Amino acid sequence: MKVCTLPEAVLRRTFEVFRACGCGRRECQTLWLSSWQAPDAIVECVHPLHSSHAGGFAIDDAWLTKFWLELGRRNCGVRVQVHTHPGAAFHSPTDDRFPIVHSIGFRSLVIPRFALGAVGFDGAFLCEITTSGAWRPLPLDRALQVIS
Ligand SMILES: [Zn+2]
Repeated sequence: MKVCTLPEAVLRRTFEVFRACGCGRRECQTLWLSSWQAPDAIVECVHPLHSSHAGGFAIDDAWLTKFWLELGRRNCGVRVQVHTHPGAAFHSPTDDRFPIVHSIGFRSLVIPRFALGAVGFDGAFLCEITTSGAWRPLPLDRALQVIS
């Protein structure tokens, strides 16, 4: 299993975005980027243009098209999609059907309770796409390493 490194500042920023955008009432998503030279070193958190409600969200198509072009220019990719759930963190059927990237090793992280809890992975759920195309859960403490 690969270890992804995550700067503490990116983690803090992710929670700030979730709280400001979701206001404890709506789901929100951020995307953690890394460079193709070092795909397991997360460097940045991006907040996509999206609509949302208590039980889900949808990324704006035009925004996403521009975003893919920008990533190509910068030689970066989305390493982990991160989103909030109203209650407990789990991987929902919608999460399975619509990953933003569908390639082996791509990861999805779910943060519970609209990210209103402490900054960190308490109650969070991480999984990744396997060679067979299915999602498998990963041990968060070993698969994601927060660095300062
Ligand atoms: Zn949002």
